[in-house]
Amino acid sequence: MENKTLSDIKINLVEHSKINDIDFENLSFGNVFTDHMLVCDYTNGEWNTPEIKAYAPFTIEPSARVFHYGQAIFEGMKAYKDEQDDVWLFRPDQNYERFNKSAVRLAMPEVPQDVFIDGLKKLLQIEKDWVKRGNGKSLYIRPFMIATSSGVIASPSLNYRFCIILSPAKSYYSGEVKVVIADHYSRAANGGIGAAKAAGNYSAQFYPTKLANEKGFQQIIWTDDATHTKLEEAGTMNVFFRINDTLYTAPTSERILDGVTRKSLIELAKRENINVEVKSVLVEELIAAAKDGSLKEIFGAGTAAVVNPIAGFGYKDEYFELPKLEKSFALHLKEKLTNIQTKVEPDTFGWTVKI
Ligand SMILES: *Cc1c(COP(=O)(O)O)cnc(C)c1O
Repeated sequence: MENKTLSDIKINLVEHSKINDIDFENLSFGNVFTDHMLVCDYTNGEWNTPEIKAYAPFTIEPSARVFHYGQAIFEGMKAYKDEQDDVWLFRPDQNYERFNKSAVRLAMPEVPQDVFIDGLKKLLQIEKDWVKRGNGKSLYIRPFMIATSSGVIASPSLNYRFCIILSPAKSYYSGEVKVVIADHYSRAANGGIGAAKAAGNYSAQFYPTKLANEKGFQQIIWTDDATHTKLEEAGTMNVFFRINDTLYTAPTSERILDGVTRKSLIELAKRENINVEVKSVLVEELIAAAKDGSLKEIFGAGTAAVVNPIAGFGYKDEYFELPKLEKSFALHLKEKLTNIQTKVEPDTFGWTVKI
């Protein structure tokens, strides 16, 4: 991988920003994008000079590999603004490493650090006015890569496009979330691409989730594909279970995405003197705990919502309501983590990176 420096970035700024047309108090997640994006193409076996330019549609051949064979990966990160108007990233090295792991699994080229990290920092410097301060506001960052070579030939593309787009977000509230435990469909399988942040993992999830929605559940708790006995992820989030006063989350595997929020919450829980165990919880253990009252909480963990408490779960024909706690681990950990991310509390872990 050649090592380009930032001076190799081409920058073409828009003449008029659209920022004054945006109602930052009424944003629906992922619908509004900032003025600029970063684009970098991979051709003839190398990465070209990255370019920051107007966020706008781009033209790709209808036969491009991404449309036919699904070579597409992405990341999800956030930038936050502190009281001094400085902009911060949260553990960007983790997203960068995971992006390249996903790339390798999908037979795509790895993206150099100066394109991903330095390019992102440059883009954020340009778009810093789009990062708003206060109550859960952030700028959602979506790096992605697609296969652009033309030809309906079932082999890896020769050309790729890496791109970063930015979307202002307000605090995420999904309403009451009821989940159903998967007993037939699977999100991921051993030897598959479940540990990669691949677009195809999401499309595979849409139909079973639609069936769950029709039955009144917002999300699915995925189980292992072979036996459907181990609890693995909640929708597109990692999942934690609190039984008595211990938090459990499954170990990462080929079927479970190694979430940055998950691993940060494990560290944070330890610091907060919450007992946390990385161990698979079985469906039957969960049901037994729900029945004897020792199951206190279930929550999802991921960048978009940070922590998403779950109100109850269904399994086959039964439904189990979770207790409504005044002092939940979910909300305590969420507050602590967002306080670190937004620099309200000191970052004793060294997770935050200033732009
Ligand atoms: C992105 C994602 C997560 C959460 O990862 P974070 O790094 O915490 O945002 C969890 N599970 C799946 C399947 C995901 O795609």
